[in-house]
Formats: sequence, structure tokens, C-alpha cells
Amino acid sequence: MDQKRLCSLSDAIWGYAETGFTEEKSARAMAGFLRDSGFEVTEGIDGMPTAYMGVYGHGRPVIDVLAEYDALSGMSQQADVPERRPVTSAEDNGHGCGHELLGAGAVGAAILLKEYLEKTGREGTVRLVGCPAEESGSSKAYLARDGFFKDTDCALTWHPADFNMVCSGSSQSCISLFFRYTGVSAHAAGSPQLGRSALDAAELTNVGVNYLREHIEDTDRVHYAYLNVGGKAPNVVQSEAILKYFVRSKNNPDCERLLKRVILCAQGAAMMTETKVEVIFDEGLSNTVPNFTLEKAALEAFRKCGTPSYTEEELAYAKTFRDTFDMQDAMRSIPRCDDPARLRQNMKDSPINDYLIEVKSYEDTEMGSTDVGDVSWVVPTVQINTACFAYGAGAHSWQWVAQGTSAIAHKGMLKAAEVLAELGIRLFEDPQIIEEAKAELQDRLGGETYKCLIPEDIRPHISTLE
Ligand SMILES: [Zn+2]
Ligand SMILES: [Zn+2]
Repeated sequence: MDQKRLCSLSDAIWGYAETGFTEEKSARAMAGFLRDSGFEVTEGIDGMPTAYMGVYGHGRPVIDVLAEYDALSGMSQQADVPERRPVTSAEDNGHGCGHELLGAGAVGAAILLKEYLEKTGREGTVRLVGCPAEESGSSKAYLARDGFFKDTDCALTWHPADFNMVCSGSSQSCISLFFRYTGVSAHAAGSPQLGRSALDAAELTNVGVNYLREHIEDTDRVHYAYLNVGGKAPNVVQSEAILKYFVRSKNNPDCERLLKRVILCAQGAAMMTETKVEVIFDEGLSNTVPNFTLEKAALEAFRKCGTPSYTEEELAYAKTFRDTFDMQDAMRSIPRCDDPARLRQNMKDSPINDYLIEVKSYEDTEMGSTDVGDVSWVVPTVQINTACFAYGAGAHSWQWVAQGTSAIAHKGMLKAAEVLAELGIRLFEDPQIIEEAKAELQDRLGGETYKCLIPEDIRPHISTLE
């Protein structure tokens, strides 16, 4: 595999910085790269023009590598500058979650697996699944719902981070929805008694939900944003308002139960204000089903591959970014791991994580959601992290955008490709692991079958409402 070209692919995606379901250039670049590398490529799958798939090989097992490549709006940032400085406007997009690396690294892993199959002549198939719109759009949930993974034996993926580790635990289920309020406009001084304020209804919904917080589970989260406040004139009783809500809980049934309580707040607020509220479903993500069997295999692969080493120059570069962050804060929120003291010491000694953090597999819920969760319900799935960024700043930070095309980011990305390929090779060579991983998945589901949170009649869409 041409590592230099793979780094250029990542840098190109960083430059395109396209948000969910608009990743045309990014998807085309990755699809072209795979085609040039000998994959059979289909662009546009499951009704999503920027989803794609590259296939190599024949027969079983079928190993899927999942790629993401969407950027975030409002995260524009100049490369390599250790202070907040947008390229043109702060409103513009930027790769604040490192998905340029995620996409290219996944492509790299698939190519390494293709080279292995080619060299050994072994039976097996590697599929690179290009999954757009992870940040908002849930493409993997649609792919899982629509049976796209029915022939897959295992799915592998990774996420750029400031840690080297195999991921464990579950993630939250999440439902996103809109509340659209309609009232009656009036002069706010002259005839307020004639007005019925949609904005009041939106505010009272949030007040209700903020009181509801006291009576929900610790693993529940609810957040909202105003998409439409009616207008900018205080002397108008606003006749329209739109809120967007995320409702999260530890699994799908709990999430649906919490959703009903949040909807009651919106309906109650509409009743109080004599306005109307329309509840519009947007999208949904399932919780992640961990797979200890694959986590163990991934850890062994990671141990064999080791972690990158850095030049003095790279360490000095990483330090300029670590110094932009309060390390006391960072040390207070380290990930769960077997030896937290070692990790905290490493954070003091080195600007970047330079060893493999070992973590005993666990089932507890981590806060946050991912559409990888939906895949994990239908096929044994595992994720790893590699250190691509200096310690300190987390995902969705300008620091991650700034470091996205650096040598340390490239090293982390190439390491992820190597570890995922090493894991894939183990699965090709020892199908027993796959059988155990599948048995574990069935065991964890305990007879429950996957029910996507997104109703059948909802198709992939850009998540917005004006
Ligand atoms: Zn993200
Ligand atoms: Zn991400």
C-alpha cells in the first residue's frame, strides 16, 4: 500500500470538509482510490448518493471495514496553527472529529486486507463500506435497517483520538426530533391579548424538560437547540418556533420511553400557550452491543503492531497543542482503563499518548451515541482508537482540525489501518473467532431482534427544518 498516497487522500478530505450527505468530493476520492487499488466499487448505495462500497475477494468470511468522512459546520480552522483561527469564516466547515483520517485509515485497512487475500490466495471477502453523515444523518442505521449487513461476518472500524486503545462498553441510544410550534402573531404592546406565542411554547417546553431532568436515569441525556425563534423583533408575538431535541438513554426501549415524557412536555407547553405543536421524527441511533471476543482479538492485534514512535520535531509540534489545554481538566476526564495512574503520568511526561492503553472489556454505557451501534446489533462489531492528536483537547475541537494533516495524525491513521488489517487477517485465518463473536452477539441479544429506531417510511435526509 502506498502510504504517502493514503496520507494525501486524508489531507484532500480534510480540505473538502463536507458535512453529512454532501460529501461528494470526499466519497468520489475514496471510491477512486479503491478502484485504483483493485476493488470493485459501487457509488451511491441504499438511496444515499455519498455512500459507497468497495469489494474485493470472493466467498466467506466477509469482513466489513466501516469508513466515515463527514465534517462539522462552524469548525473551520487553519492547519498547524495552535490557536483558534478559521481559514476564512468561523461559520465554515472543518474536520473537528478527525473523519478525514477515519475514512482514509479505513480505506488503508481494506487495501492491506486485499493485499493479504491476493498474496495468500485465501478465500474471503473484504468490503469497505463508505458511511456518510455520521455526525448527523445516521447512514449506518439505514444500512443496518435495510439489510445491508446481512452477509457480513464481522465489522471493524476505528476513530481518531488522543488515546491508543481498543474501545469497549456500550453507547447511548439516541432519537432526534423536531417540535414545530404554531401560534398567532400580534403587536406585543398594542394587542398582546390577541397573540399566542409559539416562542413561549418552545421556552416552556424547555423549562418542563429541565425540571424533568431530576426524574430521569443517570444514563439519560436530553439536549435541545433553537432552530427558529420566530423572528428578531421583540415587539412581535412570534407565531412560529422550532426546537430540535436529542433524547438519549442506555438502550432503545428506554430511549423510546423517555421520548414519550419529553413529548408530553412539548404538548403541555402548547396547551398552556394555546398554540399547536407538531412532533416531527428526525433520526435514531441504537446503543452499541459490545463484543468481548472481538475486543480481545483486537487487543492482541494492537499489541503485535505496537504504537507509533515520534521524532523530536513531532513531539515539539504536539506540545504546542497540548499547551492550549488545561491538562488538570484533561486528567480528570480520562477514559476508563486498567492503569489510570500510568495514563496520567504519560500525560505529564509526553504531549501525545505513546503506549497502548489496556482496558478490560466492560458493558457499561458511555455517554454519547454513534450509528456504529446499529451495525453492532446485526453483526459482531469492534472499534479501536489510535492517538492522532496531542493530549488535551477532545473531539469537535479546533485543535483536532488544526492537527488533522500533521505527521502525528498521519502516523495514527496508518497505525489504525495496520491494526485493523492485522485483526482482519486473524479473522480470515481463524474463523473460530468469528463463530465465537457471533455466538456472543446472540447471547447478548438474549432473543431480542434488532429493531431500528428509524421508522421504515423515513429515508436518509439532511437533518434540518427551517
Ligand atoms: Zn463527532
Ligand atoms: Zn467522529
